[in-house]
Amino acid sequence: MTELCFAEFAKCLQRAMQPPNGDKDVIELLLGWITAMPSVVDKNGNPVHLAPSLISDLLNRKVDVPKAIKNACTTQKILTDANKHCEDQIIPYLNPIVSNDMFERMDKAIKADDVIATKKKKELADLLENGKEAEFLGQLLIYVINRENRISNFPVVSEDIPLLAEADYKCPICHVSLVEYVKNTPVKKYKVIKIFPEDTSAFASEFALIPRPKRIDSPANKMVLCRNHAKEYELEPTAKEYINLKKIKDRLAAAYSLRVDINDNTLEDEIQSVLYGLAGITDNTILEELPMEALRLDQKILPEKYLLKNDETARVLRYYNFINDLFSAMDRDGTGNFELIASEIKLAYKKLDNGLFSQDEIVNQLAEWIKNKSRVGDKNMRACHIVVAYFIQNCEVFHEISK
Ligand SMILES: [Zn+2]
Repeated sequence: MTELCFAEFAKCLQRAMQPPNGDKDVIELLLGWITAMPSVVDKNGNPVHLAPSLISDLLNRKVDVPKAIKNACTTQKILTDANKHCEDQIIPYLNPIVSNDMFERMDKAIKADDVIATKKKKELADLLENGKEAEFLGQLLIYVINRENRISNFPVVSEDIPLLAEADYKCPICHVSLVEYVKNTPVKKYKVIKIFPEDTSAFASEFALIPRPKRIDSPANKMVLCRNHAKEYELEPTAKEYINLKKIKDRLAAAYSLRVDINDNTLEDEIQSVLYGLAGITDNTILEELPMEALRLDQKILPEKYLLKNDETARVLRYYNFINDLFSAMDRDGTGNFELIASEIKLAYKKLDNGLFSQDEIVNQLAEWIKNKSRVGDKNMRACHIVVAYFIQNCEVFHEISK
């Protein structure tokens, strides 16, 4: 069970049911007793028919649970009825050899979910712990009916594009396409995961020997996977999978920087000149509060437009650590003050963010501004763009290294 939704619940239960346990059997078992209630009717007053197309769409998460059924599942009484239904119709027909596996999977999915209320989480955990399996299934069934079953189409977020480009817009494990076009809008078929998980407390033994990366949020610790593989990993990451993902990530990153910057041997030197140029900033500016969220490449940039210029932004992936290291070194040896530089860039941004320029134009103007400030020539223009992209793309890190 990879997610708390009706389809995942049904599939998880299906695997632990004695035959007959086909799709139709399981959906009818779970919903039939509700659709049989006289009060459960669609908007035309007809009973809800669990047709094969509905069953398959439900399991494939193409549709939500019909509204009439959802509406019936909003009372305290239905919870009691659900417990009884599970007690009589489900528990006796579970396959005893694998039913504990099923309960464990459900338990994990509940614990990993970040939408379910803490109180509800605890209620369900307590039921399971006290061996009240019928009640647990009943409560969970009504809960997942109330949750959204359909996979929603979220537009691609521009800040994910460097990671998508790195993976060539395909899941690196199963190679399915990570972006789909719905009415000309690119929509997410992926999830960005942290390769080293944010919270490893539940998998402490697996991760005991793996050093935690210094910056868990950095692009170096992130990658895009299809939803299924992302969920699989996030639900139960193992050391073995971690090592595999890390290997894939390194390979993708290396291949990508080759693709993007095949002739860019001098770019590092150019970035260095830009940063050292910026280090010359001496204005007695009052430091502004960081991070500069406003600079984030937000939804104002249409994703389809952004896809075209992802190469440039993606260079951040390659130069990210390099720029970080330079800034740290400058801070350390006193050749430059990161906060001052960042603050100046923020001020320049504020001046440009006057409603007259598009986000693209602001980025170009900022690059121009950096070029002038650092007194490098036009040949360093790309390096200036990379520095702008660095600030935009990594504002949380921006905050972090300024500490
Ligand atoms: Zn996949």
